[in-house]
Amino acid sequence: MGFYGEIKDLLKSKKGVLLDIDGVLLNNGNPIPGAREFVSFLKNLGKPFLCITNTTIKSKSEILKVLKNCGFEIEKENIITSVNVANNYLYKKYGDAPIAAYVSNSILEDLSSLNLKAKDPMAVLVGDVGEKFNREILNDIFNKLMNGADFFAFHKNRFWKVGEKLFLDLGGFISALEYSSGSNAKIIGKPSQIMFEESLKSIGLKSDDVLIIGDDYESDILGAEKVGIDGILVLTGKYSKRTLKIKNFLPKFLIKDLYELMD
Ligand SMILES: [Mg+2]
Repeated sequence: MGFYGEIKDLLKSKKGVLLDIDGVLLNNGNPIPGAREFVSFLKNLGKPFLCITNTTIKSKSEILKVLKNCGFEIEKENIITSVNVANNYLYKKYGDAPIAAYVSNSILEDLSSLNLKAKDPMAVLVGDVGEKFNREILNDIFNKLMNGADFFAFHKNRFWKVGEKLFLDLGGFISALEYSSGSNAKIIGKPSQIMFEESLKSIGLKSDDVLIIGDDYESDILGAEKVGIDGILVLTGKYSKRTLKIKNFLPKFLIKDLYELMD
């Protein structure tokens, strides 16, 4: 049995699939060749799938709209974001206690279970607020942490790229806050276990029964493997074969694109 035969068999052996969005289904808001076909392929096989994303600037309904406009056969229940996971996780932990959220206004609709209040919060939740990350806001969060609020962040990504320009991502700000307050942020999004466990609950399957397809080796693949989910790295996003070699990343399952998983 050849390598590609095995990888198709891996997909066949699973009851459901988790799909990363950026770099797997979309690149810069455009569908990646093979992605729409793959979603239809899964539907024809009757395998449930869930798109899981760390984005903290788009609500689930906005993401759904983008995917539908691109021609994906996707419904709202096929998507889970780190914001949805934060909403469920923090509600379970804090109920109606006040939580201060430093997030983009566009995602507030996905935090509707929480009692969002800036004053005397039990916890602070920090996402990407773009241009608003100034000294004043950082100092405000810092003081809440010093007053004993628990610390949550969507992710700790180091940087991101828009066109040819690199930008500091949330991780740099979170690290600064951790350093000064001496309190470590609990991460909600990938590669956190919280994200994968909530995703399994949402799709209604056990870790053995699903696989994840992602373009980020650390966040999608290694994170999922920690909770017992097999991962396939696809090279349509942030990694090329060359970068994998430079970084010494050795994914167990590697595909060039999603066509390799279809008959
Ligand atoms: Mg990705």
